[in-house]
Formats: sequence, structure tokens, C-alpha cells
Amino acid sequence: MKRILITGGAGFLGSHLCDRLLASGNEILCVDNYFTGARANIEHLIGHKRFEMMRHDVTFPLYVEVDQIYNLACPASPVHYQFDPVQTTKTSVIGAINMLGLAKRVKARILQASTSEVYGDPEVHPQPEEYWGRVNPIGIRSCYDEGKRCAETLFFDYKRQHGLDIKVMRIFNTYGPRMNPNDGRVVSNFIVQALKGEDITIYGDGSQTRSFCYYDDLLDGMERLMNSREGFTGPVNIGNPGEFTMLELAEKVLKQVGGASKIVYMPLPQDDPKQRKPDISLANSELDWRPKVLLDDGLKETVQYFRHVLNA
Ligand code: NAD
Ligand code: UDP
Ligand code: UDP
Repeated sequence: MKRILITGGAGFLGSHLCDRLLASGNEILCVDNYFTGARANIEHLIGHKRFEMMRHDVTFPLYVEVDQIYNLACPASPVHYQFDPVQTTKTSVIGAINMLGLAKRVKARILQASTSEVYGDPEVHPQPEEYWGRVNPIGIRSCYDEGKRCAETLFFDYKRQHGLDIKVMRIFNTYGPRMNPNDGRVVSNFIVQALKGEDITIYGDGSQTRSFCYYDDLLDGMERLMNSREGFTGPVNIGNPGEFTMLELAEKVLKQVGGASKIVYMPLPQDDPKQRKPDISLANSELDWRPKVLLDDGLKETVQYFRHVLNA
């Protein structure tokens, strides 16, 4: 049994991670300020004797005793991370400093939930970990992209300067049950719109691509990385290499949900990456990891979840 701190533990990925690590016998300390997370995601765990929830903002110091830290605190959807961009950068940067300071004091292994956004609008396709990326430092996505890039820098400097045991994971678009219906990311938007019979909003002409990973595959990769051999730091891409245009995604959702929704086209947001697909050879060789769930199957589960939540 390990004592494990999960920051952002009341969010979409964090709450599933709480479930997973509790089920394997660990003691979980879940820290979240509920900015985009929800009590409902972890309500079923309240009262469990190995689970503790702490309302706390990671931009403030935190003194606890743990063996491992999964640092997931940060809004992930453009709508939410652009709502208070200064707080977004603070969460990534000051949050990383505090969690690294904590890891240093208690000698805990620490994993950072980084992102494919560190590659920006990439001109290398698919993206291998060696690619340094193409990020606009002053655009509307920069608070997230540069915050996450700086957090990676801090992780590697704490390793070089203080010998910390770090793991850096670059997460590509991930979806599944427990995404907030108002999350604003594309999978939840399309499914919620289709279930409500509203127009499906495609930004731009719908030819931009993304690669969608089901949460369960993603968390399997995250756990493998955390428990990987000493000295293996990453960064390592975890994502599903299946690549789809947003138009293809809309059509898949419409086919599964049925109903009368029409596709409408809206302006493409500034700096929206045109393509994204992970090169996962490193995850393959180092972690023996590959995703198993096909987009159609993952969408089916996710549609079922939203049907239940929306009572649709
Ligand atoms: P989410 O928004 O559901 O979860 C983020 C959680 O962090 C929320 O519960 C939120 O309340 C909490 N949080 C935000 N700021 C905080 C602060 N200052 N202090 C404490 N808690 C704070 O998003 P998610 O999809 O579960 O993402 C989890 C992590 O994975 C994030 O770090 C995100 O950047 C990263 N990530 C996710 C994806 C994806 O597609 N889901 C892709 C790349 C990276
Ligand atoms: N910190 C924390 N919890 C701890 C230890 C440190 O939140 O258990 C914070 C501390 O407030 C500091 C940051 O982590 O701001 C970085 O800590 P470090 O020891 O690296 O730096 P220093 O305290 O020397 O600035
Ligand atoms: N998108 C869309 N309609 C929506 C929400 C998003 O067409 O209702 C597009 C968005 O412009 C982007 C892609 O879908 O090209 C993925 O967006 P998301 O916000 O999910 O993730 P990210 O851009 O961070 O990969």
C-alpha cells in the first residue's frame, strides 16, 4: 500500500485515477479546488477509509506526507483555461513548484500530467517526443501551452538540481464518462448537442485532426509510467494514434446518437492546431503500452454516460 496524492483528483481523469488506485489497495489523498472538477465525480468515495478529499488550490503550499504524487491539477478545456488565463499559468507553474517542493521534502516519486499542446500547431507529424514544438508564446492558448512547457522545465530542473524521481507524461486528447457536460471540449460538446437535438458546432471547416484516447487506456499508461523503472523520466506520449477529422467525429457521433441535429460551421478559434497524432513508439518499448479501445467503442460508452446524466 502506498500513500498517493492526486492533484486535480475531482476532475475527469483524476477521479477515475482515484478509483483505480484505491481499487489496487492504496491510500488516496485527493486535492482539488473544484474549478472544473465536481464533487459528484468522487462522491461515491467519500467515507471510504483509504480515501481523503481536501479542498485546496495547488498555487498555495501543501504540507502532507505521501509516497507518490500524480500532478493533474489544471483546467484542460480551452473554454475553461482561457476563462482566467493568469490563474491557469499560476496553476501549472506555481502548482508544479509546490508539488516538486513537496516531492523533494518527502522524497516522493512525482508524475506530471503534461500535454500534446507542448507541440503547439506542429509541423512534424505524427509528433515524437524529440520534437520541440511550435507554440505561440503570446496567444490565447499560451497560458496553457507555455504553463505546461514551463512545468516540464521545472520537473527536469528539479531532477538535475535536486535528484528528484520524476515522470513526465504528454497526454493527447482523452475522452470518456465523467467529462463535464459543459466542459467545452469537442467530444463532450458533440455528444451533448446530439443528445439534446441541438446543432453540432464544427469550428472551421472540420478538416483539422485529433487523435482520441479512451480514458481507461490513458490511465493504464499513466500507471505504467509512474511505476516504470527508476531513471526513466519520459517525456512520453500517451494517446491513441487513430487520427480523425472533426467532421468525421461529428458524423460518428450523429450515427451513434441518431436524432435530428444538423452540422453547423463556426469560426475556428485562434491558434487552433491543424493536426495532432502521437508517435507512441517510446510508450510501446518502455512501458509495453498500447491503446486497446477503438473510437467507436469508447464513444458508445461515453454516449451512454451522457444519456444517463442528461436524462436524454
Ligand atoms: P479536468 O478539468 O476535468 O480536471 C482538472 C482538475 O484540476 C479539476 O478537478 C479542477 O478543479 C482541478 N484544478 C484546476 N486548477 C486547480 C488548482 N489551482 N488547484 C487544485 N485543483 C485545480 O481535466 P482532465 O481532462 O481531467 O485533465 C486532467 C489533467 O490532464 C490536466 O492537467 C490536463 O492538463 C491534463 N491533460 C488532459 C487531456 C485530456 O484530453 N483530457 C489532454 C492533455 C492533458
Ligand atoms: N513546498 C510545499 N510543500 C512542502 C515543501 C515545499 O508546498 O512539503 C513548497 C514551498 O512552499 C516552496 C516550494 O514548494 O515554495 C518549493 O520548495 P523548495 O524546497 O524547492 O524551494 P524553497 O522552499 O527553497 O523555495
Ligand atoms: N471543436 C469543434 N467544435 C466544438 C469544440 C471543439 O469543432 O464544439 C474543435 C476545436 O476547434 C479543435 C478540436 O475540435 O480543432 C479539438 O478541440 P478541443 O477543445 O476538444 O481540444 P484541443 O483543441 O485542445 O485539442
